[in-house]
Amino acid sequence: MKRLILATRNAHKVTELRAILAAEGLDVELVGADAYPEVPDVKETGVTFAENALLKAHALARATGHPAVADDSGLCVDVLGGAPGIFSARWAGRHGDDAANLDLLLAQLADIADGHRGAHFACAAALALPDGTERVVEGQLTGTLRHAPAGAGGFGYDPILQPDGETRTCAELTADEKNAISHRGKAFRALAPQVRELLG
Ligand code: IMP
Repeated sequence: MKRLILATRNAHKVTELRAILAAEGLDVELVGADAYPEVPDVKETGVTFAENALLKAHALARATGHPAVADDSGLCVDVLGGAPGIFSARWAGRHGDDAANLDLLLAQLADIADGHRGAHFACAAALALPDGTERVVEGQLTGTLRHAPAGAGGFGYDPILQPDGETRTCAELTADEKNAISHRGKAFRALAPQVRELLG
C-alpha cells in the first residue's frame, strides 16, 4: 500500500482526511508528520494559502521520500480586503492565541453593519511527490460574521462565522455538520481525485 504523509501533528486532521480518502475508495496508508519527528516544521513564507500549502507538502515529500499532503487555511473578511487571511493564526500577534485573535477581529469590526459583514474560511490543500510533481486545490465556506461569539464547539473563528443558509455559527454545528460544508472538507475532497491520479 502506498504511504501518504499529511503535514500536520493534529490527529483529528489525519482522521478527517483518512475518512475522505476512504470514501473516495482510495487505498493509501495515511500517516501524520508525527511519524517523522526528525523532520522540522517548514516556515510559512508564502503570501497565499496555496503557496504555503505547497511549501509544506514539498518539504515533507523531499524529507521523507513519500508523497505528502499539506493544507493552509484562514478567515478572509470582505471589508478588510481578505484579512486576516494567511495571518489568521497570529492576527493578534501571538501564533495560535485563538481568543485574542477573535477579540481583536470583533473590535476591528465593531462599527460594521450587518449587511457588510461577509467573510469566508478558505483552505488550500496541496499534494507533492518527492520528484517535485505538485497539485493544489482550494475550498471555501462563505458566511457572515456575528457581533458576538456563539457556541462552544470548533476552534479559532468558528464562534463568529455563520455559514450562508444557517442560523447557527460554526461553533454550534456538530463536527460532522461542519466537515460536510467546511473549506477544509471541500479542499480535501477535491484533492482526493488528484491523489488517485498520482498515486493510483
Ligand atoms: P491552520 O491552517 O489550521 O493553521 O489554520 C490557520 C488559522 O485560521 C487558525 O488558527 C484559525 O485561526 C483559522 N482557521 C482556519 N480554519 C478554521 C476553521 O475551520 N474554523 C475557525 N478558524 C479557522
